[in-house]
Order: sequence, then C-alpha cells, then structure tokens
Amino acid sequence: MRRVFAAAIAALTVTTAGTLVTGAPGQAADRPGRSRLVATATPGAPGLGDSYFPDYGNGGYDVDHYDVRLRYDPATDRLTGTTTILARATQDLPRFNLDFLLDVESVKVNGWTAPYAREGVHELAVTAPRRIVRGQQLTIVVRYSGVPSETLIGGYTGWTRTDDGALAVNEPESSWWWFPANDHPLDKATFDISVSVPSGVEVISNGVPPRPPLAEAGDRMRWSWRTTSPTATYLAFLAIGQYDVVTDTAPNGQPVINAYSTTLGPLAPAARASIERTAEVVDWASGIFGPYPFEAQGGVAGPVDGIGFALETQTRSVYGPGFWRRGANSYVVVHENAHQWFGDSVSVAQWRDIWLNEGFASYAEWLWSEEQGEGTAQELFDFTYAGYPADSDFWQVLPGDPGAGRIFDDAVYDRGAMALHQIRLAVGDEAFFRILPAWTAEHRHGNATVAQFQALAERISGLDLDDVFTTWLFTPGRPALPTAARSATAPQQPASWAKIREAHHLLAR
Ligand SMILES: [Zn+2]
Repeated sequence: MRRVFAAAIAALTVTTAGTLVTGAPGQAADRPGRSRLVATATPGAPGLGDSYFPDYGNGGYDVDHYDVRLRYDPATDRLTGTTTILARATQDLPRFNLDFLLDVESVKVNGWTAPYAREGVHELAVTAPRRIVRGQQLTIVVRYSGVPSETLIGGYTGWTRTDDGALAVNEPESSWWWFPANDHPLDKATFDISVSVPSGVEVISNGVPPRPPLAEAGDRMRWSWRTTSPTATYLAFLAIGQYDVVTDTAPNGQPVINAYSTTLGPLAPAARASIERTAEVVDWASGIFGPYPFEAQGGVAGPVDGIGFALETQTRSVYGPGFWRRGANSYVVVHENAHQWFGDSVSVAQWRDIWLNEGFASYAEWLWSEEQGEGTAQELFDFTYAGYPADSDFWQVLPGDPGAGRIFDDAVYDRGAMALHQIRLAVGDEAFFRILPAWTAEHRHGNATVAQFQALAERISGLDLDDVFTTWLFTPGRPALPTAARSATAPQQPASWAKIREAHHLLAR
C-alpha cells in the first residue's frame, strides 16, 4: 500500500543484489573435509526470484509454521520477541537468509547456536551451525528486540505506532518489523501469535484465540491468536491498543470477531454499520466465489491516528478511519473480504500478478452494487471508462504488469475491474460464474499467475481469450469499444459510485 516506498525499495534491491549473492558458499561453519556435498552446497538464495522484488523471501527452505511470541510496551514502542520457525530444507544449506530488521540477540538452529550477519536492506544471513541436508526439518529460534517505529529503511517503517499502541499492517512489507520470516507469498505458513501487553490493552491478530488472555507478572496480559490456514507473511497482522471487541457466529457457523478502536469517537457507528456486515458479505460472496477459505471472519477498525488505507489481513481485515468519514461504506468491506479468496487463499506467485488481487476485489464491489440495486457492473464499467479520458496517464499503466512502484496504482483497481468485466462479456455470464469458483477451488491456499487464470478461463469457456487479456491487461492506451457498446449519451453516475470512489481513493495510491 506504499507505492513510493515500493519504488524506493525496488531501486535499493537492485543496488544491493550484487553484495547479497557474493557470499562465501560453503565456507561458513562447515568443518573441513566433512563431505563433498557440503563443500559444494550453495547457500540459500537471498530472494525467491520475484521480478519486482528480487530479494523478498529466501531460497533453500520452506516454512511450515511461525510461533511469534512477543512482549510490547505502547509507552515506548519497545518490542522484544522470540520467533520459532518450523521449516524444511529444500536443498543442502551451508547458509540461509531470513528477512528481518530488528536487533537480533541470538539465532539457534535445531538447538545449535548459529552465527548470523546483517546483509543488504533487510537480510539476516544465518550460517548453518551444523550440516543441513536437503529434506531436513529445521527449528530456527530467533530472539530479538527493537523499536519498530524507529527502525527505518530510507526513512520508512511499515510499523505504525499510535497513541495507544501500534498496527503491524502493510503490503508488501510488514513482517520485517516484528518477526523474522521467509517474506514472500510463495512461502505460506500457519501462525501462533502471542503478545504480552500492559493490562487494559487489547491485542488483535489472525484466526481465533486458542485461550483467553492470560495474566502475567507485572500487571500484564498475554493475548494469543492462532491461524491454522496457510498464511502469506504480509497477511499476518497485529492491532494493539484500546479496542472494543464484538464476537458472534456467522451463518456458516464460524466465529466472527470484530474490533473497534475506542479512539473512533463519532466515526464508530459508521465503522460498525460497515464492519458488522462482514458475515453477510462473506455469506453473499461464498455463493459467487465458492466456500469461504478460512476458519474465522471479522474486521478491525483501526484508530484515528493509524493507517490511511485498508488491508485484507487474513481472516480479519484492518480498516483505517478514513472509510467512515462520510458514513458507512459496505463497498470497502466487500473489497477486503473478496480478497480472502483473491489474494489471501489464491495468492500471487509474483508481485507482478497483483491484478489477481486488486482487479478481482474491485470487481467484487461492482457485483455487490448489482446485488444492492445500486448500479449494474455494466453501468459501473461505462461510467469508469468514460471517467478516464483517452489521453489520461491512467491508461498507460498495465494492470497485468504495472511495475514494482505501481502495484497499487488506480489502473490495477479500476482498469483491473474493467478487464474482468470485458472477460465476463467475452465468455458470457454462465461461463464467467463457473470460472470464479473453479479458480478459487483449483488454487485454494496456493499461488497463481495471470497466465494460469487466462488458461482456466479459456478451458471453461472453450474460447481463445488472448485478445481480451492482451488488450485490457497488457496494452497501453484506452482500448476502443465496439460502436454498439458505446452509449450515445454520457453514462449516468451509478448510485454506488461515490462509495466505491471513496474506497478506491484510499486503497489505490
Ligand atoms: Zn485491495
């Protein structure tokens, strides 16, 4: 959600890539003469080959689970923690990397103390204390501390300190400020997250609480959260501060846990009138996209001095206060909850596939508008298309490959939704509404590419869709519409337009 930062970090990544790969393979802690295998083994790569963010994530291992155990003090923003990572080596590893920024006190691998060094922008390079062979189970324990709001890269932190606590909510960079990770959507894992805070402070995170908050010495409480669904690292979150928590049961029997910052004041009713519709929205969306992919539902209305956007943090989206300034907005709730299917369960394989997240979540708003009788998707298409003049820069950004600095550009959202509408027109409603649930079923809890979506849409529709995909996702300029599709008069503004615009104004950058 930070376009400027994404561009800056992309530049930094390019300049540091050289130093990151010129490590010393095999020299690490290997004992001489141990085996030829170790002597020739290469270190885990410092990135996962993402074309936009080459050093995000790491190679050589695959994480199954993060146990993130923290202590946090809102008064000082001081965070101390122990994260235990359960992983499996996917190659022989003399050395591997984690993505992390806070001060590290120790790293242990399967109980052995491991040497480590900071490299590049956000890399923690760990030397194997003993031989690690392909397929081996790894238990990596990292102890650390820091003040995340003061831990800056190029003047930037993905951690938001507030008057009464903090929000760890950002995309794509978030985990670096609170737990060491293989920070790329390609490596999903389950999470146990617990945070000790002074009594009277609430901690909200993903999934469900496996136990009520536990009293700890020094007038503190430890809050615990667990998610048993595979979760991309950027979709794990913390909201710490003064919250009213509202719990209920959804029509599908799942727990609904919503939380409202007590700082919202006069914005609180609009926040509740929006977020309390989460279960209704999930129920409606399940009928179109397929079964809801996770074990819990909910939303968090963040504090007035928190974030300026919203994020589809898994099982429980977090919303900034701006969405409630002009009353309730169900469209942003639809957008973030659509992401639970498109983005969270079916995640990008590379960040350039961002259209699979934002185009689909934006189109869900158009479908909701139809459902609410506030304008059809066609009316929203016509009005959006007419709203961007042919010579606007908007049409120069390609939703299918926007560039690292533009993954949250308006075009990814609005032209992205227009692209899906054109695909719907090309295949017809019958095929289109079979393609959507087939997509979420085939890639449930996985990763996927734009090319794979095209292949699925072609398979189900029996049509060659290359023209519509190329035109709407990969060609600069405003696509021409067939004369028959052009309205003779300027399209009327649909009733849903203002709310959708308000939401996108805060979501896209
Ligand atoms: Zn979105």
